[in-house]
Amino acid sequence: MVVPTVVLAALPQSRVQILDGGMGVLLPKLGMPKDPILWSARALVEEKYHPIVVQAHRAFIDAGATAIIANNYGVIPGYLRKANLEAEAPRLAALAGQLAREAAGPKGGGVLVIGSLPPLIDSYRVDLVMPEAEAVSWYAMLARAMAPFVDLFVCETMSCPAEAASALKGLKEGDPDGKAWVCFAVDSEGKCRDGTPFNVAVRQLSASSHVSGVGVNCCIPEAVELAVATLDTDPQASAFASSVERVVYANSYPKEHNEGMKFSTETLDDEDVRKDLTAEHYAESAKKWANRSTLPFTFVGGCCGILPHHIKLVTACLKPK
Ligand SMILES: [Zn+2]
Repeated sequence: MVVPTVVLAALPQSRVQILDGGMGVLLPKLGMPKDPILWSARALVEEKYHPIVVQAHRAFIDAGATAIIANNYGVIPGYLRKANLEAEAPRLAALAGQLAREAAGPKGGGVLVIGSLPPLIDSYRVDLVMPEAEAVSWYAMLARAMAPFVDLFVCETMSCPAEAASALKGLKEGDPDGKAWVCFAVDSEGKCRDGTPFNVAVRQLSASSHVSGVGVNCCIPEAVELAVATLDTDPQASAFASSVERVVYANSYPKEHNEGMKFSTETLDDEDVRKDLTAEHYAESAKKWANRSTLPFTFVGGCCGILPHHIKLVTACLKPK
C-alpha cells in the first residue's frame, strides 16, 4: 500500500525512531586494538573482545537507540581474505547477530536488531563492487547466518544501485521472508558513487517486495538534504519512499573522505573525525531530517564517528520527554 506523503508529513514527531551510531570508531575507544586489516571484525575474531561489542551496543541503547546494527560490517571477503579467515565468515556473522541480540534483549522486546549487508570488498569503492553471482552467494550466506538473531537487515553504505540489487538478491535467497532497508553512501553532492541520482536509485528499489526502508548512510550530514530533495521532484520515487521507512545515519568523516574514490580504508585513520561536527551540530541536522515537510525521516542515527554522546543529544531533541 502506498501511503500518501501528506499523511506521513502530518504525523507527530514521535514517529521517528532512534538508530545507533558507528561501532568502528567506538570499539577501539573501549579497548579493541586498532586493526587496519580486520577493522571492527577484530572484536568478533578474538573472544576476549566480545564483551566490548555488547558494551558498545548497550552504550547506544542507553543513549536512546531503539534500533541497533549488528557488528558484522567487517565480516566481508575483502577483509577476511587478508587474514585467511574467509571460511569463518558464517560463524562470525552469526556471532555478531548473537552479541547484538544479547545487548538488545529478546525479539519483540522494544529494541530492533538489524543485520548488516555491507559492501563486500571495500566501502565507497564503486570500482570494486563484486561481480553479481559471487556477491549474491556472499549476501545469501550473511542473511542465512544472521536471520535467527535479527529483526531485519540493512543493505548499507551501498555505492550504487547494482551493489544494492546484489544484496537484495542474496537476502531473498538466504532469508526468503526477510526485509531490508537499503541505504546509499552518497557523495558530497548527494549522488550514488557511480553518479546515479538518489531518486533514480530509490525508484529502482520499488520493484522489490523485500525493501522496507530507503535512505542514506555514511555520508557527510550536509549531503543528506541534497540526496533526499531529489525525491520531491520524482513522483514515483517519492510515492515509494513514502510507503516505507526513511532512514538516515550520516558520518563524521572529513569531506575529502566522502568524495569520489579518494577514500580508501588503506589510508584511513578511523578516528580522524571532524572536530567541527559536535553533538550539537549533529543533533541540529537530525532535527531537520526528522521534521522535513515532505518525506520526513523515520529512523535517524549515526554512522562512522557518531558516538553515544551524539545519539544521546539526538534522542533528547527528537524524543523530548
Ligand atoms: Zn560509516
